[in-house]
Amino acid sequence: MEKTRLLGMTPDQLKEIALEAGLPGFTGKQIAQWIYGRRVRTIGEMTNLSKAGRERLSERYEVGVAEPVGKAESSDGTRKYLFPVNGDPGNAVEAVMIPDGDRKTLCVSSQAGCKMGCKFCMTGRQGFHGSLSAADILSQFFGIDEAGELTNSVFMGMGEPLDNWEEVKRVIDVLTAPWGFAWSPKRITLSTIGVLPNLKRFLDESKCHLAVSLHDPFPEERATLMPVEKAYPIRDVISLIRKYDFTGQRRVSFEYTMFAGHNDTPRHADALLRLLQGLECRVNLIRFHRIPDFPYGTSSQAAMEAFRDRLARGGLTATIRASRGEDILAACGLLAGLHNHA
Ligand code: SF4
Repeated sequence: MEKTRLLGMTPDQLKEIALEAGLPGFTGKQIAQWIYGRRVRTIGEMTNLSKAGRERLSERYEVGVAEPVGKAESSDGTRKYLFPVNGDPGNAVEAVMIPDGDRKTLCVSSQAGCKMGCKFCMTGRQGFHGSLSAADILSQFFGIDEAGELTNSVFMGMGEPLDNWEEVKRVIDVLTAPWGFAWSPKRITLSTIGVLPNLKRFLDESKCHLAVSLHDPFPEERATLMPVEKAYPIRDVISLIRKYDFTGQRRVSFEYTMFAGHNDTPRHADALLRLLQGLECRVNLIRFHRIPDFPYGTSSQAAMEAFRDRLARGGLTATIRASRGEDILAACGLLAGLHNHA
C-alpha cells in the first residue's frame, strides 16, 4: 500500500492522524516539530513518540521528503537541483538555489510542465505533466544541500503557481507559520502570468510579494506571446492589483522580457507607463535567451538601457536583471524545463 506523506500537513491535520493511530492529540504538534523543525526524514526518528505509536504510524504514513535525483553547480555559485515528481524521476522538475551576499534564494517549481503555453517559454512548449503536491514542492526546500541556510524563496520555477493554488498555499503556510519555518511573507515572492480568480485568492489569503509576467502592454500583441491574455486580460489583472495596498511592506513587480524590435520600442515604454501609472511598483527588464523556432531575438544592451531610462523619466523604477547561472542553464527561461516565468 502506498503510504501517505506527512510533509505539508498542519499540526491540526497531524493531530487527527495521531489520534487515529491511538496516540495522544498533542503528538500532532510534536510530529510537526520533528518534520519542520528538526527535519527528520523518518517517523522512526521521532523519539518522543512511543515506539509502538511510531510503528503504527509507519504502517500508513511516511515523512515523504523526496531527495534530488541530480544537481549541477554554476561558476557563479548558482545550484540547480532536479527533483522527481510523485516518486517518478522520469517526470522531474527543477529547483534553483541562487546565492547573493548573505541571501540564499530558492526558485521552486510548482508544476511539471505548464498549461499556459507562453510562446517564449520552453516549459510551455513541453506541455503539462501534472501539478505538484505540497509535499513535492516542499521537498525542494528540504532536499537541497543548503536546506538549513535558505533565506528567501520565489515561486518562479516551472509551472504557473496560481494554476496550483491549493497546494502552493499549503506550502506558503508551512513557510510562514510559527509551527513551520516562521518566515516573514516578505521573504516569499510568487510569480504569475495573471490567473485572475486565484490571483484574488493569493492577494486575499497571503501577504507575500507578487511578480506579474507582463512582457507587452498592448493586449493584441501580448495575446500572441501569452494565450492567457484572452482569458484574463492584463488590464483586468492590473485593475485587481490596484485594489490592494502595495505602499507598505508588500511589493508588486512586473517582469518584462525584452524581444528585439518587438516590445522594446519607445511606443511600448510609453504604453507601459500608462498601464502602470500611479501604481507603486517596479519593473524588471529581463534579457531574453533565445529558444528554437521563436521569431524574436534578444534586445541589445543599448535598447534595454534606453527602455529603462524612458520608464525612469516617466517615474517608473525599472532594473535590468542580471542573469545568474547561465552556464548550467538555470537562468530564467533556461531551466531544463526551460521556463521563463521570471
Ligand atoms: Fe507556464 Fe510560466 Fe512558461 Fe508561461 S512562462 S508557459 S506560465 S511556465
